[in-house]
Amino acid sequence: MKGAGPLYESLGFERATILLHESYHLFGDDEKFALHRVWLAKDRLGWTALRYGRTRLWKNTREWTLAENPRMFTCGEDGQSDCLE
Ligand SMILES: [Zn+2]
Repeated sequence: MKGAGPLYESLGFERATILLHESYHLFGDDEKFALHRVWLAKDRLGWTALRYGRTRLWKNTREWTLAENPRMFTCGEDGQSDCLE
């Protein structure tokens, strides 16, 4: 979504992330799909592990995304890390 950067920034990256998630439901997508897509888009949204990794929203979302899409977390030395990092 080109040009959405300033909009997201004014909303706050956390709210932008939630809105994106909910927008998938508006179009009829299920929880697994919404979590998957938001996790893929998080860097573009400015919602990064570096800045938000310690927040409650991040920890909850990571947990839910892991539960629904375990294959996204099979990387790193432990084989349980986020494959997008
Ligand atoms: Zn949802």
